Amino acid sequence: MRLSHSLIPTLKETPAEAQISSHRLMLRAGLVRQMASGIYAWLPAGLRVLAKIAEIVRQEQDASGAQEMLMPTIQSADLWRESGRYDAYGKEMLRITDRHDRELLFGPTNEEMITAILRDATKSYRDLPQILYHIQWKFRDEVRPRFGVLRGREFLMKDAYSFDLDYQSAFLSYRKMMLAYMRTFQRIGITAIPMRADTGQIGGDLSHEFHILAPTGESGVFYDAAFESGDALSVGYGPESIDAFYQANTTIYAATDEKHDLAAWAQVPEERRREGRGIEVGQIFYFGTKYSEAMGFDLPGPDGSKIYPEMGSYGIGVSRLVGAIIEAKHDEAGIIWPDAIAPFKAGLLNLRQGDAVTDAICEQIHGKLGADCLYDDRQERAGVKFAEADLIGHPWQIIVGPRGAASGTVELKRRSTGERFELSVEDALAKVAEA
Ligand code: ATP
Ligand code: MG
Repeated sequence: MRLSHSLIPTLKETPAEAQISSHRLMLRAGLVRQMASGIYAWLPAGLRVLAKIAEIVRQEQDASGAQEMLMPTIQSADLWRESGRYDAYGKEMLRITDRHDRELLFGPTNEEMITAILRDATKSYRDLPQILYHIQWKFRDEVRPRFGVLRGREFLMKDAYSFDLDYQSAFLSYRKMMLAYMRTFQRIGITAIPMRADTGQIGGDLSHEFHILAPTGESGVFYDAAFESGDALSVGYGPESIDAFYQANTTIYAATDEKHDLAAWAQVPEERRREGRGIEVGQIFYFGTKYSEAMGFDLPGPDGSKIYPEMGSYGIGVSRLVGAIIEAKHDEAGIIWPDAIAPFKAGLLNLRQGDAVTDAICEQIHGKLGADCLYDDRQERAGVKFAEADLIGHPWQIIVGPRGAASGTVELKRRSTGERFELSVEDALAKVAEA
């Protein structure tokens, strides 16, 4: 993409309304703009990040055997009366009335809707197990929307729902999702620790939250420094490897402040105890037959007796992740994107726009890298180009100046380490491609 023809409205000044780094940087790098309290427009560069995260989430959900679908954002109030949550949900639910005075709402989550769909679409125990998910906008009328997309009112969530015939099978679905989450975070390039957590509005008794450590996190967390997510990508989806993975990840102590267990904490050797702050980027719940019973969803079992499906639900805050990743990965100069989700893999800086030699080299590189390269082809000073490339946070900067160009070389800069390499165009392209 050519920066001269792109809408990436960077800001030099720090926006006054932004209290934390990720919010400031998202505004300054031209990723989002606030349209109303807690409601954001995603500009082209921001949308590229959101879409890359969603795609990794999608691939790992698919790999776990979950099926993608798409439920609407607007739901009927009657559906929520069936579970009893219409009144219980309170002021966070945005309630709407249509022209026929029918009560609707903008969905904050989808347990009721998916239960109604399965109730209608399944006939016998043979139709289970099932895991379904969608990636859809949610609305929660938060009392205090803040920190940009970290606590918005409208936000993008991946939510999955599992339906099983018995506890054993439901617990397997739960562990499968935990593995899918760990694989997802590893591929994105961040560490998110699974922590024992309260179940809140959703209900049930087994739950983990996934936290990215950051001093600005809203949750107090306790964890064993020995925690290592290990290599989730090498773990298969067979029941045995899932079980071994779950054991390894949950025997090491980690909990949010609500679930801090002093006795378990005392077992962790003192030098390994860590207290910190975390940003919740995902949460998984097992809640048994809570919704299937309340909503009259039962299936005839092998002997004809009624089986109420055992359910779980599994959320990832796709839009919150964008802010959380920046919170964990930035410096004074700007964002430091992990390779897998950067808006552009590389920024291409032409230090003398209009010079026949630098222009030709840049055109060649831009042609090879295509849309994943942001070509700064503006008539701007080198200093401005350097500062913006650092701010937007491209994993690589390919710097084309007249001196190197004369001898056929370019400078390659790695944003995360600051390393610089003087390379031929071919070698620079090869290095970017291999990362
Ligand atoms: P929180 O405790 O932060 O309010 P929650 O526990 O109510 O979140 P869940 O119901 O577990 O949220 O939703 C699943 C995921 O959706 C969360 O882990 C989080 O990543 C994301 N999420 C929830 N609320 C918001 C919000 N207001 N803005 C952005 N993302 C959110
Ligand atoms: Mg939660």
